[in-house]
Amino acid sequence: MKIVYTDNNATTKVADEVIEEMLPYFGELYGNPSSMHTFGDQVGKKVKEARQRVADFINADPDEIVFTSCGTESDNAAINAALIAFPEKKHIITSNVEHPAINNLYQHLKKTKGYEVTFVPVDKKGLLDLDLLYKSMSDNTAIVSLMWANNETGVLFPIEEIAKKTREKGILFHTDAVQAAGKIPIDVKKAGVDMLSLSGHKIHAPKGIGVLYVKKGFKFSPLLIGGHQEKGRRGGTENTVSIIGLGKACELAKENLPIMNTEVRGLRDYLQTGLLEKIPGSSVNGDLEQRLPNTLYIGFDAVEGESILLLLDREGICASSGSACTSGSLDPSHVLMAMKVPFKSAHGSIRFSLSHYNTKEEMDIIITTLVPVIQKLRDMSPFWKDGKMV
Ligand SMILES: *Cc1c(COP(=O)(O)O)cnc(C)c1O
Repeated sequence: MKIVYTDNNATTKVADEVIEEMLPYFGELYGNPSSMHTFGDQVGKKVKEARQRVADFINADPDEIVFTSCGTESDNAAINAALIAFPEKKHIITSNVEHPAINNLYQHLKKTKGYEVTFVPVDKKGLLDLDLLYKSMSDNTAIVSLMWANNETGVLFPIEEIAKKTREKGILFHTDAVQAAGKIPIDVKKAGVDMLSLSGHKIHAPKGIGVLYVKKGFKFSPLLIGGHQEKGRRGGTENTVSIIGLGKACELAKENLPIMNTEVRGLRDYLQTGLLEKIPGSSVNGDLEQRLPNTLYIGFDAVEGESILLLLDREGICASSGSACTSGSLDPSHVLMAMKVPFKSAHGSIRFSLSHYNTKEEMDIIITTLVPVIQKLRDMSPFWKDGKMV
């Protein structure tokens, strides 16, 4: 069966060009980039090229790029460095819709280290309460960490505007840009952030490679203490193969940004319009404007997300529900709960996240599959009667 892959916010296909770039370094070119001999230095030169490509992608200097093992490590390393830089400050700020890499870390710091944490709320559209954010900043605040784009809704936070405020107040600002990368332009100088996280597998590079941008001048303490790799900012022999792949992926992502903003956005809008028109009792979660061009998080009244996913899966369609069913909890996603989306429609929410590999034919397959699927589930639902939710 042919797969229709629309779960690109979970992970992406490794681009063929990326695989090709990496292959020699899986094989004969296995040297250590830190070695003094020419054989290792060959790899060192290629890692240097990759670092330049990553830097170019986000308008950073190569010296400001630290390679890590994943987006999660980048997030942890950023917060860790901030807390070490300001040991006397015991307050940290984030939002209540962050990825677990930040949310659970903040919960952990609160529980085990006694940090005072402000989880700034979002409104019904998933937009951040900026007034509350600014009011919560104080001399005691060690760091503000906010995601650039939400992984479930695709809703964007105004990073540049927030960075202006944190700069005024002399507070460090980190952004998790894992979902924003490759979908909207990222310019660290224009944005004015101190630290920024990226993950390879969300932009068509392999899993297990991440980046932390660390602005020049910040006295950064490593999370992984060891060798002098990454200029003492991350111990451990470099994952050379994946770094080289990520460099290529960043180059491609930069080239493909216009396609993301036109063609992929067009496909997303086509899917959105088609589903809203053909399925009554459906609604989009999150702000329609301040949103990634590839993401559609759509709720269907009176049905369950897991059931929809199972029936889509039978037809080879890969999507995602925001629900935390895997943990045995029947609660809908923490993002939808934070947005106060009504319980009965939050439960039937499905996220379609596209890439430039998707086609209009695939959008048509999703629409023609989903219409009878929702109908079938509603026929069995106690919450659906006479064409509406009860
Ligand atoms: C996927 C993701 C991460 C984690 O990245 P990994 O490389 O999988 O650790 C962090 N933040 C956001 C917003 C993500 O979508």
